[in-house]
Amino acid sequence: MQKIENYINGELISSIKEQYIDNYNPSKGEVYSLIPNSDKDDVDLAVKAGEEAFASWSSTPKVKRAEIMLKIADLIDENHKELAHAEALDNGKPLFLASHVDIPRASSNIRFFATAIMHNANESYHMEEGFNNYTLSQPLGVVGCISPWNLPLYLFTWKIAPAIASGNCVVAKPSEVTPMTAYLFSKLCIEAGLPKGVLNIVHGLGSSAGDAIVSHNKIKAISFTGGTNTGRIIARKCAETFKKMSLELGGKNPNIIFADCDFDNMIKTTLQSSFANQGQICLCGSRIFIEQSIYEKFKTAFLAKLETHTVGNPFDEKTRMGALVSKDHLEKVLSYVELAKEEGGTVIFGGNKLIIEGSENGYYMEPTVIEGLPYNCRTNQEEIFGPVVTLIPFETEEEVLTYANSTPYGLSATVWTENISRAQRIANKLDSGIVWVNCWLVRDLRTPFGGVKQSGLGREGGFRALNFFTEPKNVCMAY
Ligand code: NDP
Repeated sequence: MQKIENYINGELISSIKEQYIDNYNPSKGEVYSLIPNSDKDDVDLAVKAGEEAFASWSSTPKVKRAEIMLKIADLIDENHKELAHAEALDNGKPLFLASHVDIPRASSNIRFFATAIMHNANESYHMEEGFNNYTLSQPLGVVGCISPWNLPLYLFTWKIAPAIASGNCVVAKPSEVTPMTAYLFSKLCIEAGLPKGVLNIVHGLGSSAGDAIVSHNKIKAISFTGGTNTGRIIARKCAETFKKMSLELGGKNPNIIFADCDFDNMIKTTLQSSFANQGQICLCGSRIFIEQSIYEKFKTAFLAKLETHTVGNPFDEKTRMGALVSKDHLEKVLSYVELAKEEGGTVIFGGNKLIIEGSENGYYMEPTVIEGLPYNCRTNQEEIFGPVVTLIPFETEEEVLTYANSTPYGLSATVWTENISRAQRIANKLDSGIVWVNCWLVRDLRTPFGGVKQSGLGREGGFRALNFFTEPKNVCMAY
């Protein structure tokens, strides 16, 4: 069986204790490879490699750093097919999604920050009394990047790229649930000539390898994407050593639909924002609020569209929804359907585990639509992170804003209306880091990305990410 290896100090090696964790193929429910069960000792080795590489990497001219990163991006593109296949196998997502979204975005992330670093300017303040200030942006040293399983290589590279572009060395941990493309990525880094120790990838459990990264006193900052509860644990740990931290956490996003919207476009996009990646995207709109006058029309059109939304093996061309990422996660999502029923909701579509012929042990579930629940019940307040949406009618803007803003989360929101004044009124009042009007998941990598309330701390994207991974130092000179 294939053994994934850690990437430390430029080499692919097993964990020191040579212990392994099973890695599952969710579409079959079978173990298909093994992951190093790394611990503190492996993280120590990775941090040491990062420290040794830091002096040279941080003083490497930006243009040279960019050149190596662009080579990595090119290699991702050249190996697109193999990476997309590996992502679909490891995560359960449809191959078409991995091919069209995950892998292209991974090379875009690297290319974006490789070139952004050459456009990053520093501040300078001239004082009339004969003093001049200029501000240096210096890399932090060794930083930690921890990413989740839903968009594995996409989010892994989104963190690593700004960190290494700005001259830091990185110790990174992908989710233990989806480690494969991070492993393949480490091979591409070697092939591209990334100097040893600049990026170190340690595989293993969050509670051991992840915790060792967060607790390490030589690691200067943590960039984390994952669940709000894990974020809370990490924030406490970071406080002990005053690490900088960037936290991208959970969401329970509203999708607000007014009667005056472009109906066909809204229905098509709402299907995506509800069920793309099996609903396992932090930006999915799982609470759908529909203006009362078009509630029945919406319901009929949405459910009709869902009939054509094929659930199946990720490698089947017709598949639009693959397997959920793990057995535990499938059970968690199904338990929320039960909770919804207990809370008085009616399941009007799906709601069940699915058995797919030829993949009987895979973790499949029907896309699920529930109505009849109040906005403030647990089903409508807690993150489910699966193919489950609720429908809630509303009458007025004030009412829907109360519903939309009622959760502890505030990551993203979608608004559908042709009335531009209303769109802006609502966008201003939503407690949310990101608002899409008449679209969803459109991403310009220069824009601020992140959430408010318990959806996170800080912003990623563009120069904000480069600022996170650098420390400004002001130099004041008399003349
Ligand atoms: P988790 O929080 O469970 O895990 C995220 C990462 O943290 C994994 O690599 C995990 O390792 C690691 N980890 C777990 N515990 C610790 C710990 N104590 N110390 C250090 N690292 C730890 O999230 P999921 O992987 O389940 O991802 C789903 C969540 O991510 C959802 O809540 C979703 O909303 C959120 N998310 C947020 C995004 C955003 O941009 N705001 C984007 C995408 C997802 P391991 O897997 O081995 O446990």
